Amino acid sequence: MFEVRRRPVRSAFLVGTHAMAVRKIWIEEGCISCNLCEDIASEIFVVAAGKTCHTKKGHERLLGKDPELEERIHEAVDSCPVEVIQIDED
Ligand code: SF4
Repeated sequence: MFEVRRRPVRSAFLVGTHAMAVRKIWIEEGCISCNLCEDIASEIFVVAAGKTCHTKKGHERLLGKDPELEERIHEAVDSCPVEVIQIDED
């Protein structure tokens, strides 16, 4: 049995405060297929029925262009109950 850990979702006051851009996203082992990341940023994450999360093909072209999407990516990272979403920023 796994322990679900919830981290606080970012406040709306923090939208647009990230100075760094997300350059790479990957999912480590341990996804519990809760769908939270897909609910938050469906342009980036997909959780197919019976599968664990993965990043959508071609999602890289969306990175570093839209601050609102960047903020939702961070929200997905912070919301993942098992902390398996990883990002590189610059
Ligand atoms: S939020 Fe985390 S555990 Fe939930 S589907 Fe996404 S990667 Fe998997």
